Amino acid sequence: MHIKSLVLENFKSFGRRTEIPFYEDFTTVSGPNGSGKSNIIDAILFCLGLARTRGIRARKLTDLIYNPGHEEGGESAGGGVREASVEVVLDNAERTLPRAEIESAAGTENVGDVDEIVIKRRVKQTEDNYYSYYYLNERSVNLSDIQDLLAGAGVTPEGYNVVMQGDVTGIINMTAGERREIIDEIAGVAAFDAKKEDAFEE
Ligand code: ATP
Ligand code: MG
Repeated sequence: MHIKSLVLENFKSFGRRTEIPFYEDFTTVSGPNGSGKSNIIDAILFCLGLARTRGIRARKLTDLIYNPGHEEGGESAGGGVREASVEVVLDNAERTLPRAEIESAAGTENVGDVDEIVIKRRVKQTEDNYYSYYYLNERSVNLSDIQDLLAGAGVTPEGYNVVMQGDVTGIINMTAGERREIIDEIAGVAAFDAKKEDAFEE
């Protein structure tokens, strides 16, 4: 399973609806400083509910809404309802996540074509409050529904699916005990891989 595309609407520096395609094996994003490369990663963290564990670069959710005055350090352009959304389109053609699990997460048997899983999150700001909504193939769901579903594909908030700038330094600066936990995790996978290879050789 891989990310097929991202659709950003009014998210951070993306004031217009922007669709970003991703390749199956490897995609790099290049551009000048401040052009929005890291904002793309923030969009993935926001949409998949990984923001809290992986250090999204925003003080509050509403900072993620496009603000034309952002460069000048201005507060959001006042008045009215402001809103941003991000869609992560996952390629599930290989059925890494089976239909039954998607149906159960979406709370309906009517989830459409499950070769593609579309996870969407919106943040909306009104005069005196803000709201956040998650969707799975256009069905309104909770964050926990998304997290449970993604865990089935090995994407978890504690996982290293996203390696942020500073994560490596963080690991270097950990106490020996903390580092051991990570190594154990990696070693667990390594042991499993070795078993698999042995089995193939036999
Ligand atoms: P670098 O190469 O320096 O890492 P980058 O391409 O990763 O740069 P980002 O950090 O993704 O750049 O983007 C920073 C830009 O996003 C800044 O110009 C900042 O003003 C803009 N930005 C951040 N939040 C918002 C917002 N809410 N509304 C409008 N622009 C925003
Ligand atoms: Mg950057």
